[in-house]
Amino acid sequence: MKAKHSRPLVSPKTTSLSESVIREMTRLADRHGALNLAQGFPDFAAPAKIKAAAVKAIEQDYNQYAVTWGSPNLRRAISEKAEWFNGIHSDPDKNVTVTCGSTEAMMATVMALADAGDEVIMFEPAYENYIPSTILAGATPKPVPLGPEFGLDEEALKAAFNRRTKLVIVNTPHNPSGKVLTRDELQVVADLCEDYEAVAVTDEIYEHILYDGREHVSLATLGSMADRTVTISGISKTYTATGWMVGYTIAQQTLTNAIRKVHDYMTVCAPAPMQEASAFALRLPKSFYSNLAKSYQKKRDFMVEGLGDIGFEFFEPEGAYYILADFGRLSRSDDTKFATSMTIDCGVAVVPGSSFYSDGRKGRRQVRFSYSKKDSTLEEAVAKMSRYFSGKA
Ligand code: GLN
Repeated sequence: MKAKHSRPLVSPKTTSLSESVIREMTRLADRHGALNLAQGFPDFAAPAKIKAAAVKAIEQDYNQYAVTWGSPNLRRAISEKAEWFNGIHSDPDKNVTVTCGSTEAMMATVMALADAGDEVIMFEPAYENYIPSTILAGATPKPVPLGPEFGLDEEALKAAFNRRTKLVIVNTPHNPSGKVLTRDELQVVADLCEDYEAVAVTDEIYEHILYDGREHVSLATLGSMADRTVTISGISKTYTATGWMVGYTIAQQTLTNAIRKVHDYMTVCAPAPMQEASAFALRLPKSFYSNLAKSYQKKRDFMVEGLGDIGFEFFEPEGAYYILADFGRLSRSDDTKFATSMTIDCGVAVVPGSSFYSDGRKGRRQVRFSYSKKDSTLEEAVAKMSRYFSGKA
């Protein structure tokens, strides 16, 4: 028997959200045995030393809850690394919070800082999670388009700011375009945050994946932005351990105290053994990071050449590990049809471009490739696409 309900069974906040298209494309890839260039996670192994540190942590019995806001050892390691790499000064006891991945870090931050009536600015195209985090916090998303070559559009950003602007989410290196924001572009954001007393929330998860000698700039290091920035990063992309779900926030004490409360009631703590292993990872020698960037640069060069030869058009990534490509020369279909037939008929899964825009029409001719994959996977993917599209461009 079907019960009658005059009231909605579920919160309208959830009905306004759609399932993540990125995760859905992974399910489709798995069902059809396609190479997964859709979801941004590596198909190669995490470094042996890091894996050994995780095994050791379990054997040493780090198997009960960690301190809610992060094991002291990990918070110290985060603080040390933020100092030498990002130039951010922090006290591990007052400013650092360990979360279940940077995804939870973002959600806990938006919930802790924004309310109904507040606006949250994000730049589009944008990683899929920012709008849902804002909606679930009860606040209002305010997407602002990026300019040519995914640079900051100063006029559009200025026009979006108003007295309801509470947060600005900044992601550099950028998913899905690969753009790295310059110091000057970040300064524009900093000035507006100061003028409007808004808080910047940065997603810096790709901070170590930069090409051609580019430098990563953390917004928190500009002027007095340390007072009004929540810096988010994590273990997953830098250490090839996306499934560990260890992320963190760094922020001044008032912001941190609020974030810690949300984090505590939402998840209590990130997995304890993974926290110990993450502390080990964060203390790897500096050469680890330059080798990581070098290896991704090789993958980028390979994909830029391969996709270009096939007939895709795109901005050449400056960082991160994605290419957002226009397929207009290859097909007249829309992005969802194109991505579905790429997955099922060509055997290479990609993400439809519309999932990175609040107005999906803007991504109708785009798909996103992730190249955080073994060289052999990328070679096979390019070979499959070359055969599939031969003669179409
Ligand atoms: N950031 C990755 C991507 O954009 C995946 C993140 C996730 O699915 N949790 O594909």
